[in-house]
Amino acid sequence: MLMNILITGGAGFIGLNFVQYLLRNTEYHITVIDSLTYASHPKEIYALTSNSRFRFLKGNIVKNKDMERVMDQQYEAIIHFAAESHVDNSINNADKFIQTNINGTYQLLQNLMKGYFKRMIHVSTDEVYGTLTSTQLPFTEQSPIAPNNPYSATKASSDLLVRSYYETFKLPVITTRCSNNFGPFQNIEKFIPTIIHKACKNRRIPLYGDGLQIRDWLFVEDHCRAIHLIMEKGVFGEVYNIGGGNERKNIEIVKKILEIMRKSEDLIEFVEDRKGHDRRYAIDSSKLQNKLGWKQTYSFNQSLEQTVQWYINKFKGAPI
Ligand code: NAD
Repeated sequence: MLMNILITGGAGFIGLNFVQYLLRNTEYHITVIDSLTYASHPKEIYALTSNSRFRFLKGNIVKNKDMERVMDQQYEAIIHFAAESHVDNSINNADKFIQTNINGTYQLLQNLMKGYFKRMIHVSTDEVYGTLTSTQLPFTEQSPIAPNNPYSATKASSDLLVRSYYETFKLPVITTRCSNNFGPFQNIEKFIPTIIHKACKNRRIPLYGDGLQIRDWLFVEDHCRAIHLIMEKGVFGEVYNIGGGNERKNIEIVKKILEIMRKSEDLIEFVEDRKGHDRRYAIDSSKLQNKLGWKQTYSFNQSLEQTVQWYINKFKGAPI
């Protein structure tokens, strides 16, 4: 299918992987708008502009003037990744989270209403569901929204805005809620890149609390494939969970990475737990599998090994 699409936050971790995935696997014409925050990859996104199917505009989704610059044409779809995404930053100061995650999403819904895009895929997170005990079943799309930190609260707010615009105006929107991603281009502040970076430098690896928090991990390209499928075949007004069924304790992830890197577990240092730290996330993605035929294609162990190698190469020569 020939498509002209707009991607917000396409210079970030998942957005950049998604752009590269679409350029490799489709004939789509792609426009990215990204304000190039500290979490973005300017070099990589500007490099893609040599492709005639790709254009990049530096801009803030919250600012109407910036959005007007990309609205020089109609798009079959807008895929909305742009966000402030680091929980620890939101605990220190949630201002930017409220601006980008809530107000930014609101601006896009207003532009959807004006007819600039034929559909909107709102990329959200499993963190909006809050936390599970060790015996509870994984989150389904019917699980209550119960965010526990300012980041997930702003994402939940944006999800509710999107939902309301479907219920009130019947706008063509779809929300996705994915579990923790890993892969190339994730910011060094995040869990897996931090472990690899510290281990590369033989430095202490900080592990929150007892390290027994559980996350459900998915390789980023499987997330990209899911979003592509949902964009083409998803039903308006629906929410789709995306998850790998790879529940792992944080301490297991650290030990596995140290094993891959042949480093000592003595590098692990337990530090004071994060405030409001969710204990367990697990996601039931059977709706996406049964209704749209999505399947995870990458094995967790193999893609983790590839990811570790990617960061080792990246960190070679990086300043200490
Ligand atoms: P990221 O922080 O790596 O990238 C975010 C991108 O958005 C950056 O390039 C940044 O410059 C851009 N951006 C931020 N504010 C902007 C603004 N006001 N205007 C324009 N661009 C702006 O985030 P990520 O990890 O790639 O996450 C992308 C989306 O996926 C987010 O909405 C996040 O909530 C969601 N998500 C992430 C994960 C995960 O594990 N990383 C899991 C599920 C869902």
